[in-house]
Amino acid sequence: MEYRKLGNSGLKISELSYGSWVTFVNQLNQKSAMDCMSYAYDQGVNFFDNAEAYASGESEILMGKILKKLGWGRDTFIISSKVFWGGELPTQRGLSKKHIHDACNAALTRLQLDYLDLFFCHRPDPDTPIIETVRAMNDLIIQGKILYWGTSEWSAKDITIAHKEAVKHNLVGPLMEQPQYNIIHRERFEKEYKTLYKKYGMGTTIWSPLASGILTGKYNKSIPQKSRFKVKGYEWLSDSVQDVDLKKVDKLVKISKNLNLKPSQLAIQWCLKNQNVSTVILGASKLSQLKENIKSNQFKALLTDEIMDEINNV
Ligand code: NDP
Repeated sequence: MEYRKLGNSGLKISELSYGSWVTFVNQLNQKSAMDCMSYAYDQGVNFFDNAEAYASGESEILMGKILKKLGWGRDTFIISSKVFWGGELPTQRGLSKKHIHDACNAALTRLQLDYLDLFFCHRPDPDTPIIETVRAMNDLIIQGKILYWGTSEWSAKDITIAHKEAVKHNLVGPLMEQPQYNIIHRERFEKEYKTLYKKYGMGTTIWSPLASGILTGKYNKSIPQKSRFKVKGYEWLSDSVQDVDLKKVDKLVKISKNLNLKPSQLAIQWCLKNQNVSTVILGASKLSQLKENIKSNQFKALLTDEIMDEINNV
């Protein structure tokens, strides 16, 4: 495992990390989730991603129990949570000072931790002035409840405003963004954010490197029964297949076959070729998937400039 600096901070994050969206609670129970976390950690993964919204808080409760059981030193891993969708009531959602304060404390309780390493605003909140959010995050840093804060799927314009407000009021600005980035979804990461990496030293923890599994090629014929698109409450995800030209996915599968790689491995290593990626957050509903995905690191050298051109041409 190699480690990259998270933006312009001194934090060294493993280039592959592991997240719990959809999988924890819905597809993985405590034992299988613990096997996955344990395997990842043994392979050098040091970052585990979570959010208040995942399985309505149950994902954090599960991860908290696993961390307690595994007993890893708190100085050996990085944990995140995200605030935005905490419940149905108006005070339980968004990025107000109140909800940020409540969400952080609740995540700490569920995860059984004293502090979060990374705390993300899960989406932008047009109802809350950005300065209020910046101030609330700054307060949590001063209280020692979080170490770094960031955004997820914010526009470049809003990220810039957050930085300007932070400078103006002598507060800590956002360090990292968590956007979707994969062979299919590139626009925002490569174009909209282009100037932010250097200008603000922005790090990135990118999500859905396999576009929810589409880039494994397993959706090319039909939707497999045992996949997240069939998980109760996540059926809406299957709409995303309709937006993809599956013939192109077939072509990517062929490229990976010629290299003796699994399509998932090609897709993950393609993300890592971009140096503005600090870490690729993997998802896996089975230990075998996680093993296959982490193993991709052994094949870095296969993604030569010619192969990258071939992929990008598709
Ligand atoms: P991926 O795009 O990699 O999708 C992961 C899913 O693809 C797995 O759960 C599994 O689904 C399938 N899969 C993975 N590996 C394989 C394999 N080798 N062979 C076959 N199928 C495979 O990542 P996620 O969408 O899960 O995103 C990763 C993480 O990013 C999340 O856990 C979360 O922490 C974060 N995230 C953040 C978001 C945000 O808004 N900030 C949004 C979404 C995710 P299955 O077995 O069910 O088919």
